[in-house]
Amino acid sequence: MTPPIQKILIPRDRLETRINELAQEISRNYPGEELVLVSILKGSVVFLTALMKELDLDVEIGFLYLSSYQGETLPQSEVRHYIIPFPDIENRHVLLIEDIFDTGASLAYAWDLCKKKNPRSLKTCVLLLKEGIERPQSIPLPPIDYCGFTVPNEYVVGFGLDYKEKYRQLPCIAVPVLD
Ligand code: 5GP
Ligand code: MG
Repeated sequence: MTPPIQKILIPRDRLETRINELAQEISRNYPGEELVLVSILKGSVVFLTALMKELDLDVEIGFLYLSSYQGETLPQSEVRHYIIPFPDIENRHVLLIEDIFDTGASLAYAWDLCKKKNPRSLKTCVLLLKEGIERPQSIPLPPIDYCGFTVPNEYVVGFGLDYKEKYRQLPCIAVPVLD
């Protein structure tokens, strides 16, 4: 069963092409190095698997479970994190993988958490960047080193992103029918 969508913003072939380009750029930037990909669950897992298959590098993967949307479309004020097995990243190159940069609070949280573990380098890779967002001045936001696409300020789903835990398996980025 396919949940109802209003419109497709980014079709499957454009996602594939852009992810291949990102993978080539990342591979060029770490010649002969090993890279730890830290994926922020659950939304970025589809992006992680698509990206890592195209990387011409030795990679290790790790996960961080952050949650700021509790199954609805309104953000919570606080980001939470859950402890799951996490690789030792001290003195290693780390690339944080995030599905979407909205307020930036989740990536800022993950960035601080990784930074405290003294990686050799820390960069960020987001599939989607939301335009037209008022981002809080109170939190320092991490730089976005690699970005797939910008999207308008709408609630989007697909390619890992959910609405009430549905739509994650859609192979495109779409605007859902919200209830
Ligand atoms: P931020 O902390 O940047 O405000 O939000 C990041 C997290 O909120 C993302 O990792 C994602 O899980 C969720 N999020 C933000 N915007 C959207 C959206 O448009 N659609 C979906 N499905 N999740 C979103
Ligand atoms: Mg997320």
